[in-house]
Amino acid sequence: MAVQEDVFKKVISHAKEYGYVFQSSEIYDGLSAVYDYAQNGAELKKNIREYWWKAMVQLNDNIVGLDAAIFMHPTTWKASGHVDAFNDPLIDNKDSKKRYRADVLVEDYVGKIESKIEKEVKKAAKRFGDAFDKKQFLATNQRVVDYQEQADTILKRLGKSLEREDLADVKKLIEELEIACPMSGSKNWTDVKQFNLMFGTKLGASADTAMDLYLRPETAQGIFVNFLNVQKTSRMKIPFGIAQTGKAFRNEIVARQFIFRMREFEQMEMQFFVKPGSQKEWYEKWKENRMKWHLSLGMGEDNYRFHDHEKLAHYADAAADIEFRFPFGFKELEGIHSRTDFDLSKHQEFSGKKLQYFDTEENKNYVPYVVETSIGLDRMFLAIFSNSLKEEELENGSTRTVLKIPAVLAPTKAAVFPLVKKDGLPELAQEIVDDLKWEFNVIYDQKDAVGRRYRRQDANGTPFCITVDHQSLEDKTVTIRHRDTMEQQRVAIADVKGIIHQEVDMKAWLQKMQD
Ligand code: ATP
Repeated sequence: MAVQEDVFKKVISHAKEYGYVFQSSEIYDGLSAVYDYAQNGAELKKNIREYWWKAMVQLNDNIVGLDAAIFMHPTTWKASGHVDAFNDPLIDNKDSKKRYRADVLVEDYVGKIESKIEKEVKKAAKRFGDAFDKKQFLATNQRVVDYQEQADTILKRLGKSLEREDLADVKKLIEELEIACPMSGSKNWTDVKQFNLMFGTKLGASADTAMDLYLRPETAQGIFVNFLNVQKTSRMKIPFGIAQTGKAFRNEIVARQFIFRMREFEQMEMQFFVKPGSQKEWYEKWKENRMKWHLSLGMGEDNYRFHDHEKLAHYADAAADIEFRFPFGFKELEGIHSRTDFDLSKHQEFSGKKLQYFDTEENKNYVPYVVETSIGLDRMFLAIFSNSLKEEELENGSTRTVLKIPAVLAPTKAAVFPLVKKDGLPELAQEIVDDLKWEFNVIYDQKDAVGRRYRRQDANGTPFCITVDHQSLEDKTVTIRHRDTMEQQRVAIADVKGIIHQEVDMKAWLQKMQD
C-alpha cells in the first residue's frame, strides 16, 4: 500500500511540475476536487478527446456528433430519475468526523482481498515458471478459491442491499466486516444516508421568478432530448449513435483521488439507438469495441479488466465497467450500459412529446432501446499519465524519469535543439521548428547541455528530440533521438517529418483496433 501511495504522490507532483495539472484557484488554497489543465495537460486532453472522437464519430458511418448545452430544462432531471435517485450512500465516522461513501468502503475492502489473490498468483508464477497456468491456478488453488468466494459474496450482498435501498444492511455489512476508518482506525460509524449529487443553481435575475436549475451530472440527457431532432435532420436509420464530449458536475461525497474523482469533469459519451430486443447483441459488441480502443494505445492488456455489475442502475438491464489498474488498484475507467428504453420513455411521458422512431422495414413506430458507452476524459488522462510515468535505471547506473505517453497522444511531438548557441545552429534549428509546426506541436530549446535537454523532454513526454550540430550545416542531416529507446539516428532533415509522422499518425494507432 505504502509503495502504491508513493507512486501516486509522484504522479501528482510530476503532473504539477511539468505543467499538466494544477489545483484550481491554488493561490486561494485551492478548491477541493477541482483541477485546471495546464499547457501540457490541455494538449493531452485535446488529443485524447480527438482519439475518441475519431474512433467513435469519424470512423463510424452510423454515429454523429452533438454539442448540447450544460443547462437543461429542470424537468429533464425529474424525468431521468436524477432528482429522486441520483444518490450515493454516505456514512460518517463519529470519531474522525470523516465522511465516506459506504459502498466504496466495502469495495476497498474487497480490493484488499483481490490484492491477496494477486499476490498468491505472483508467488505461484514465480514458483512454477513457464509451466504456470494462471487460469487453472485461479480455479483450483483452495486459498484463492476461498478468497474469490469471499469477495463475490460481499459484493453480491452490497449490490442487493443497494438495489433494495436497504441502507441498514449496508451499515451492518460494514460492521460485520469490521471495516475501520482509514484515517483514524475507528469503527464508530453513523447510519448510512442517501445524498443527492447534483449541483443546483438559478436561472434569471429576480429572486421570485428565477428558475431552479441543475448543472448536468452527465452528458447523456442532452443526447436523449435531442434524439428525434438529430435522427430526422441526419436521416439516420436505426441502429445509429449520437456522441458528445462535455463537462459534467457531481457534488461527490469524497474526492481525495486527484483527477480520478472530481466535482467538475468531462465525459465522452455515445448513445447507440437500437431495435428493442437487439440490445444484448449491441451491448456485447460495444463492450468489445471499447476494449479494443483502449488496447490500441498499447498500455498493456494486463492493466484492463471487465467488471460486470451486480447492482444495476434504475435504468439498466445490463452494465459493465472497463476497469484500469490505477496506482491505487483496479478502478472504473469506462462504463458500458444497456439502458433499455427508460430514458426516451420517461422524456416522452414528462414532455408529452412523442420520441418514437418509425421503422420502415417493420412498418411501425417504437421507442428505441439504448446502449451507451461512457468514459471520463479526466480518468482516461490519469490512466495514461500514471501508466506512462517511469523511473528507469540506465546502463551507466544513473536513473531517468520518463513519461512514456503513447506518441499519438503526447502533447509535444518533438523538441529541436541547436547543439550550441552560435555558428548558425540556432537559426537552422528554428527553421526546422518553423517547418514542423504546421503539422505537429514542436518546441525549440537551447538551454543547458544536450543531455539535460534530453532528460527534460523525457520527463515532459516528448517522443522525439532533434539535434542540429555543425555537420547539419554541411550535409543537411540531424540526429533524431527516440524517447522510449533513447536510440539516436542520423537522418536527412528532409526525412524528419516522415519519421515523426509514422509514429504519431492517428490512423496507424486506430487501425490496431482492427487487429
Ligand atoms: P463511480 O462509481 O466511480 O462514481 P459512476 O459509475 O458513477 O462512477 P458513471 O455515471 O457511469 O460513473 O459515469 C461514466 C464515467 O464518467 C465513469 O466511468 C468515469 O470515467 C467518469 N466519471 C464519473 N464520475 C466522475 C468524477 N466524479 N470525476 C471524474 N470522472 C468521473
